[in-house]
Amino acid sequence: MKAYRIHAPHTVKLDEMDALPVGEKCVKLKNLMCGITRLDVDVYAGRVKAQCPVIPCRQCVGFVSEVGAEVTGIQRGKRVVTFPHASCHNCKACKDSRFFDCEKPAVFGVDEDGFLSDFSVVSADDVYVIPDRLRDEEAVFIENVALALNALAHMNVDKGDQIVIMGATVEGIILAQVAMYYQAVPIVVDMRADMLDLAQKSGVYFTVNAVNDDVCKKILSLTGGRMADACAYLVDSGLPLQSACDYTAVHGRIAVIGRAGESGLNCNVSELLKKDLDLFTVVDCGKNYSSAINLLANHTVSIDSLCERVVPFGEVSEMFEALSGDGADGQLKTIVKM
Ligand SMILES: [Zn+2]
Repeated sequence: MKAYRIHAPHTVKLDEMDALPVGEKCVKLKNLMCGITRLDVDVYAGRVKAQCPVIPCRQCVGFVSEVGAEVTGIQRGKRVVTFPHASCHNCKACKDSRFFDCEKPAVFGVDEDGFLSDFSVVSADDVYVIPDRLRDEEAVFIENVALALNALAHMNVDKGDQIVIMGATVEGIILAQVAMYYQAVPIVVDMRADMLDLAQKSGVYFTVNAVNDDVCKKILSLTGGRMADACAYLVDSGLPLQSACDYTAVHGRIAVIGRAGESGLNCNVSELLKKDLDLFTVVDCGKNYSSAINLLANHTVSIDSLCERVVPFGEVSEMFEALSGDGADGQLKTIVKM
């Protein structure tokens, strides 16, 4: 098989490897598409330590080409998406078949080989079958939608709640769409006018430009003087976390969302105490993968404007180098087509 492997910071090579045996509880995938995440780029750039050499990418769509002897429920020829982490199959949650709740998850592309290869072998518990009407290009966004669903569940969002979303990132814009599906009212804050335009094109009515507008004043007027019921802070928004305290109403909730945060994310706890704010983190998808597949398949969430480009398998090295630089590349999702 052919696999891209990160050997050292800024060094990715297309390696010829032996075909992997298919374990009894595993499936072999013919990989079709991978979504590139910020974590993949951080591993490439050496900002996140990984088990090198490592095959990057956790977001993958593939065809099942072989099925292990003990696998039931998944047949050859089915199209599946991969779960972001491998379950340990040893902890209490895994033994109860709650693999999404695994206590020692190994993230694909960091702790364990990911999917930027022509074929992969993965535990049948870590893939989900997707319906025909869901395109490959949409399916690589399932993790983003599932993370948004998990965040909204943690934030205990109710109909009519006003939610400030700090960061018009791909995740932030998807979160806004899912919030609207729950009849909440998102207010998206960002410093980038082009990303706020994209949020508007995705159906968000209220956006606030953190460079040009007085954000507190604008949120005050949009919320009738109350400030937001809840605030979702995206870790890669580049906005100060402390501001979430200013934007949120007394007794409100603040969710800090994402896997790889900027180092030095700071929040003054005395501000939380003053307003009795509930601050918590949301780092994974929880048990929302199946719901996320449904929302995407029914086009409740539209990702059409959120894909930056589709890169051919042969151009992965150039792509990683471009994404790891300081340029504007990588604001939207990059997809690799095998
Ligand atoms: Zn486990």
